[in-house]
Amino acid sequence: MNDIPELKPCPFCGGYAVYDLDDASIECGECPAMMYFGQAGAEAGRSKWNHRAPVLTEQEREIFENMVVDANTQNRECMEQYRANRIITRNKRFERKLLGGTP
Ligand SMILES: [Zn+2]
Repeated sequence: MNDIPELKPCPFCGGYAVYDLDDASIECGECPAMMYFGQAGAEAGRSKWNHRAPVLTEQEREIFENMVVDANTQNRECMEQYRANRIITRNKRFERKLLGGTP
């Protein structure tokens, strides 16, 4: 069928992709990857199949990795603060108990 739009290779293995119009799907000829497009149609299916996440430049990747490191550092600091506060709260409760006050 000449009017069926061209498909990019499989995003998982790089294999060739084919339409299966009986199943209203696009399938990889080399791995189990399959995408059902149903009543949306082959053109909409092709658009989704051919969509790829943008490839980051080296600089963008570095920025992203630093953001992840910063987030992890903030998480760790937050957890340390939380644990420290819990210990202080427990110690105060224990002190009050020892001094005969209300728990
Ligand atoms: Zn594949």
